Amino acid sequence: MIHKMGIVGYGGMAGWHHNLTKEIDGLEVVGAWDTDPQRLELAVERGLIAYDSLDALLADDQLCVVLIATPNDSHCEIATRAMHAGKHVVVEKPVTLNNADLQAMIAASEETGKLFTVHQNRRWDEDFLMVCEIIKAGQLGEVFGIESRVHGSRGIPGDWRQLKEQGGGMVLDWGVHMFDQIFQMFPGVKLKTVHAITTNVTNQLVDDGFRTELLLENGVRVLVEVGTSNFVSLPRWYVQGVNGTAVIEDFSKKGKMVIAVGENEKDIVPVITAAGLTKTMAPRRDDSIKEIPLPVVTADIKDFYQNVIATIEGKEESLIKLPEIARVMRLMEAVFESAAKNQVVEFE
Ligand code: NAD
Repeated sequence: MIHKMGIVGYGGMAGWHHNLTKEIDGLEVVGAWDTDPQRLELAVERGLIAYDSLDALLADDQLCVVLIATPNDSHCEIATRAMHAGKHVVVEKPVTLNNADLQAMIAASEETGKLFTVHQNRRWDEDFLMVCEIIKAGQLGEVFGIESRVHGSRGIPGDWRQLKEQGGGMVLDWGVHMFDQIFQMFPGVKLKTVHAITTNVTNQLVDDGFRTELLLENGVRVLVEVGTSNFVSLPRWYVQGVNGTAVIEDFSKKGKMVIAVGENEKDIVPVITAAGLTKTMAPRRDDSIKEIPLPVVTADIKDFYQNVIATIEGKEESLIKLPEIARVMRLMEAVFESAAKNQVVEFE
């Protein structure tokens, strides 16, 4: 059976979804609605029906699923209308702007019995899955510190991403992925406290970056940082265990893992620095450490839509659980609160 999908908001990300779904059996994008006539023209050029309103799209009985890829402030209203019109709904991240709206969306799903899911596609990022694997494999010993960073140097792209009322800013744009990844990495582990700062280097209306320190109840400290004025990027991941350190440089997954081999290092030769000498910071002797390969992990984002289809057909549960989405939303609210007060916020 082929499930037909309509797209609301045929912009940049919608094009990505359209291409991806061409590779998925059982799902076909047939039409789109966008407030911008030029985007509708493009949809027609790409073989889609261009609806002349949201109502027209929602009234098309052949559509079983609606993908919402509009700016963030419009997700809640469109999603609730779509579910009440009898459609299953896939919403782009961030699901919406706050938890109150999210609860309204969840209520619509419960009332109508329609699938409501969120495109948390970065759960399929291989660099993230490598970190999960590194923690699981245990070669670093007990992990006590994780740093997750995304750096760029072009400020915030686009128009609506620079506007607060449309849900702009980097916490909602990238934080939503990175916090979700940390929660996925430590299932069932509570987050005790949050301390955050937000930056306004290129944009005064929304955060153009942020730095968040999270303390998990298992003692792991996590730094989550996004910067858009970083002309030299720090590594995507930096993971510290009591026995070693792993670095993953960027999305290309290059990096290394270095672990101690238990050789006695008592004859440390101090290193001479610019104007002094230090044993503490002297490099390791070669025979006391070894470099081991990073794990090889493969993932396929098509699994997201395969799961959407299987969920609609009642064969699987949704991989993206709504309480997980709500938890990330609460965390983003805590980040804004902590940054506004410059205080540590208790979380769970
Ligand atoms: P975009 O600006 O390229 O596209 C948005 C489109 O929605 C535009 O064509 C605009 O005309 C249209 N639009 C605006 N308001 C509308 C409305 N009320 N009804 C119908 N159409 C409307 O933005 P984008 O980069 O494609 O982002 C869209 C969504 O996708 C956002 O929620 C964003 O956060 C998300 N996104 C997710 C990822 C990811 O990796 N998961 C990546 C990029 C964007």
